[in-house]
Amino acid sequence: MSAVGSKLRRLADNIVAFRCPGCRTMHQVWTDRWRWNGDGDAPTFSPSVLVTYDGADVGQGGAPQARCHSFVENGRIRFLPDCTHELAGETVPLPTLLGGT
Ligand SMILES: [Zn+2]
Repeated sequence: MSAVGSKLRRLADNIVAFRCPGCRTMHQVWTDRWRWNGDGDAPTFSPSVLVTYDGADVGQGGAPQARCHSFVENGRIRFLPDCTHELAGETVPLPTLLGGT
């Protein structure tokens, strides 16, 4: 795993990851399936990134899977309204990743 600029990590030849401030986890992007501008400081991916996963409350009271749907543009992440986390509909800077080489 190696740093790509200040905001991405390379996990494999064809996978980079960013830290999602909505989910507080890393999301992976396959660079052979998404278009990436090659910039680790102000990354842009297209098309949108959609992540679903079992949240802590999945299945309790009919809670659905957690869903995170975003556009990463010029180092900012624009969350679509269908996200299940608190940043749905908001645009925020991608966090800078600390440490690592
Ligand atoms: Zn997310």
